[in-house]
Amino acid sequence: MYDKNNVFAKIIRGEIPCDRVFENEYAMSFYDVNPIFENHVLVVPKGPYENILDFAKNASPDEQAGFWACFVQTADALGIKCEFNCLANAGANAPFIKQSVFHFHLHLVSGAKRPEYQSFVSGL
Ligand code: AMP
Repeated sequence: MYDKNNVFAKIIRGEIPCDRVFENEYAMSFYDVNPIFENHVLVVPKGPYENILDFAKNASPDEQAGFWACFVQTADALGIKCEFNCLANAGANAPFIKQSVFHFHLHLVSGAKRPEYQSFVSGL
């Protein structure tokens, strides 16, 4: 069940600050507080969707279009044309990397991995 007091819901409501990249009616993007790569941005819908499957199943066509428009504008703002990774973690027991904030977000990463993370084998 969606927790409306998760940290991204608070960012969307303006209750806590973020380093915003782009925002439209349906979505926003901001820098991850713990960046692993040179560019590490999170793209989030404004609606209350717990993970990518919830968003894909239940968001309206306008919300979905707004989310992807935000994704494109974010990539453009960062100067990312190709050579990036996108990752959506889903679930506290996801096999690769666990989801820690239960509001759907796409990690958009590009550029060099930060030196303090060079020893990490598995990407994000
Ligand atoms: P995930 O494990 O996929 O749920 O990723 C959650 C991400 O949110 C992590 O990379 C955190 O560093 C990031 N994060 C947590 N709190 C904040 C915040 N207040 N502002 C920006 N990013 C955050």
